[in-house]
Amino acid sequence: MTTASLADYQLIQTLRGVGVLKDLEGPRIPAERGTIVIPCADGDRITDLLTKHWGVCDGHPCHHTLSLNGGPLLIPESSPIAKLGEGQIIKEHAYGGHRLKAVTTVMLYGHWPCGAAITNGLSLYDTLVCCVSAKDEMRTFLQSRGIEPTVILCFHVDYADGRKKSYYFDRRAWNAWQASKASIQAAE
Ligand SMILES: [Zn+2]
Repeated sequence: MTTASLADYQLIQTLRGVGVLKDLEGPRIPAERGTIVIPCADGDRITDLLTKHWGVCDGHPCHHTLSLNGGPLLIPESSPIAKLGEGQIIKEHAYGGHRLKAVTTVMLYGHWPCGAAITNGLSLYDTLVCCVSAKDEMRTFLQSRGIEPTVILCFHVDYADGRKKSYYFDRRAWNAWQASKASIQAAE
C-alpha cells in the first residue's frame, strides 16, 4: 500500500489552513437525484470514500460510480497517467450516467496517497493540479453535450493513523493560494 510523506501531510495541513480543503458537508452537494461519482479504484480506501460520500449525501441512494485506477487523474487530455484514452471513456460514461439516471451532479474524488499517481511520478501538488484540470474538462465536456452540470471536486486523505477524511476542494481558495505563492516568489 502506498504511503504519504511528512511533507505531504504538511501540505495538506497548509491547504486546510488556507481554506482549500474544507470539511465535506451535505449542503455543498446538490444530490436530490443522486450523483455520478468518479473516484480512484484504490481498494484500500474506496470503502471509506464511498461510505462517507453516501453519508454526506444524506441517504439519497443513487450514486452512479465510475472507478478506474487514478480516477479523475485520467480525465484531462494532458493526463500524465492515461495511456488508453481513459479520459474520453470516463467523460462519455459520465454523460451516459446522466442519460440513464437524469443526474447532473458529478463528483470527482482525488485522493492521497494515490498509488496510480505515485507510480507515475506525480507529487501531491501535481495530483491536485491534475484534479483541477479534470474538473474543468468534465464540465466543458458535459456542457458541450447540452447539460449544465454541477461538477464538484473532493479530496480524500488517508492519514495512516486510522483516520481517513474526505474534503471539499474550494477552487477559489486554491486560486487565491496560487496567486499568493506567485506574488511571494516575485518579491523574492
Ligand atoms: Zn489512487
